[in-house]
Amino acid sequence: MTVHTTSNAPADLTNIPKKHKAAVYDKPGTLSIKMVEVDTPEPGQGEVLVRLTHSGVCHSDYSVMMNAWKALPAPTPAGQVGGHEGVGFVAKLGPGLENSPVQVGDRVGIKWLSAVCNSCVPCLSGRDSSCTAGKISGYYTPGTFQQYATAPASYVTPIPAELDSAAAAPQLCAGVTVYAAMQKADVKAGQFVVIMGAGGGLGHLACALASKGFGARVIGIDHGSKRAIAEDNGVEFFIDFTETKDVTAEIMKITGGLGAHSVLVVTASNAAYAQSLTFLRFGGIVVCIGVPEGDLAPVGTASPALLIFKELRLVGSAVGGRLQAIETLDFAARGVLKTHYKTAKLEDIAQVFQDMEDGKIQGRVVVEID
Ligand SMILES: [Zn+2]
Ligand SMILES: [Zn+2]
Repeated sequence: MTVHTTSNAPADLTNIPKKHKAAVYDKPGTLSIKMVEVDTPEPGQGEVLVRLTHSGVCHSDYSVMMNAWKALPAPTPAGQVGGHEGVGFVAKLGPGLENSPVQVGDRVGIKWLSAVCNSCVPCLSGRDSSCTAGKISGYYTPGTFQQYATAPASYVTPIPAELDSAAAAPQLCAGVTVYAAMQKADVKAGQFVVIMGAGGGLGHLACALASKGFGARVIGIDHGSKRAIAEDNGVEFFIDFTETKDVTAEIMKITGGLGAHSVLVVTASNAAYAQSLTFLRFGGIVVCIGVPEGDLAPVGTASPALLIFKELRLVGSAVGGRLQAIETLDFAARGVLKTHYKTAKLEDIAQVFQDMEDGKIQGRVVVEID
């Protein structure tokens, strides 16, 4: 079989096998993956069957595999297929989609939530990524580390023709997440935005979007080894937290003594959160994005007095909704958001997770599913 690195559909798209290959978490709680054959599902009412060709590998997949997030309601089931940044082609329509805008052969994406209820308060508020009955792809619903997955036609994301499938995959999670966070931070042109974790998978996209998409002045904080990727993505002031004695004082100096307008914490570090409120200006906003692993800890410096006297806001942001996904892919199609990624084979995903655990990955890895 061939590898589909471009936007071309596989030649055998509608020739659907009864079984297909999948990478599963055979021993959740440990770094372990098994390649297996699973039954190819039939798409239900309103659903499409997607022949996946690419999936981004996200740190959240690692956290789900390792049962690292105590905020999730239950451990990951053994034998689950991981993955939530899938791109592929609609291979089959379920009943009721004769007049749907989504048809066989269309290139679509499957996100962190593969389906939502459309009737809870977050869904009704257009914030469907916080759906109270949503199905998390690759946790309690089979994910995108496999050849075929089903999803509602109304919830898959159309992929713009200009965008390569491998480049599109991480945008469905990382890109959408930073875009939604930027909106929550109410970022405006000329403002100072601090990105904590500026050189990581989410961080480099946040830097690019803040600088080129929103016209902000970006202060990036990360380990010195991430300086190049941060600066390549529009960071105007880079702060190496391992070498800078007083990060708060440094940011105050850069911002003329006033502090930053907003801070996006994309790193999953409790220490970063504790620092984030200390360099905000009056009326500033901290957006919490990276989810720390292990025991739940409060944001260290969030004293009511500080919040009150400086009128600070501390808000959370979880991925993004379907409209934000479409708008994010538009930024990507126009070249504002560029994923820094390399590809690997689905069969090599255990090694990808190992490299992630060892901190060896810059940007993102996208697996090709042939
Ligand atoms: Zn993700
Ligand atoms: Zn809902």
